[in-house]
Amino acid sequence: MNLNFHDTELSLQQKVDQLLTQQTQEWDLAEKNYKGLDKAQKREFVFDNRVSVGVQFNAERIYSSAAKVDAKSISERKCFLCLPNLPEQQKGVDFGNDYVVLVNPFPIFPRHLTIPHRQHIDQLIKGRMGDMLDLAKSLTDFVVFYNGPKCGASAPDHFHFQAGNKGFMPIEKEYHTLSRTIVKGKDKCRASVFSNYLRQCLILDGDDKNLLRNWFEEVYELMKAILPSDPEPMMNVLVSFEQGRWKIFIFPRKLHRPWQFFEEGEKQILLSPASVDFGGVLITPREEDFTKLTAEDAVDIFRQVTWEEEAFEKLITDFSH
Ligand SMILES: [Zn+2]
Repeated sequence: MNLNFHDTELSLQQKVDQLLTQQTQEWDLAEKNYKGLDKAQKREFVFDNRVSVGVQFNAERIYSSAAKVDAKSISERKCFLCLPNLPEQQKGVDFGNDYVVLVNPFPIFPRHLTIPHRQHIDQLIKGRMGDMLDLAKSLTDFVVFYNGPKCGASAPDHFHFQAGNKGFMPIEKEYHTLSRTIVKGKDKCRASVFSNYLRQCLILDGDDKNLLRNWFEEVYELMKAILPSDPEPMMNVLVSFEQGRWKIFIFPRKLHRPWQFFEEGEKQILLSPASVDFGGVLITPREEDFTKLTAEDAVDIFRQVTWEEEAFEKLITDFSH
């Protein structure tokens, strides 16, 4: 869109590298917030010496974590992902005909992108997994993620993916270090699950894009049948690509926000779980929550928003047959 790359030989990843450099130097809001992120406070809980959950205090994320996403609030605000509404200093890089890659000015990751659709269309994942796989393959240094309209997306009315640099979320490493049970498929493409992982996660991995996309659509339909939700089965999804293979992490959700979010005073914890939290980094936009959050709170918050064991077991059983 705005940023002109005269060298069309550059890969998407190279263009995005240039975009990040340009925006964090020349767009004051991005410059300020990326510098501020260097000083973000971090903590870590380790469960049974195997599952790691980080906590990061990001004051700027208050706008997203506490975003009002009810229909009335949405209809009354100017959409911040529609291209004509972007700040003048914001530039982007085209991805195919439908998407634009932007630098997220309120970062969680040291390198954080928002990838809106060019049109103002609803946040619905159905039919878009192919795009997500293509994007993950092109953005080699990033994990691409999707937050459902009731699962952390702060613009449920405008379709978008996000992406954060690899090496940030514990789940990337845990995919390799923790044992998983294969529930379907073989080497080429397979589905697997972790055990005792605090939240339910179905992983599809393989080198066959069409099969993975079809499997995702199958999982989507099964989720919809097991726990109906409007306008789509509640989920967060992460996708990464490495050495010719994709990994799709699907986190089925049953609740948007835990009870602690709606409390007042002492009991309140302003934490609105989304893909990054499910990837193993809890984002607290208030320092008091960052300080007081305990390992038990983390377990409790995951338990409230993830699927019950029984429903997840049914999903696995139905999908594996
Ligand atoms: Zn829009």
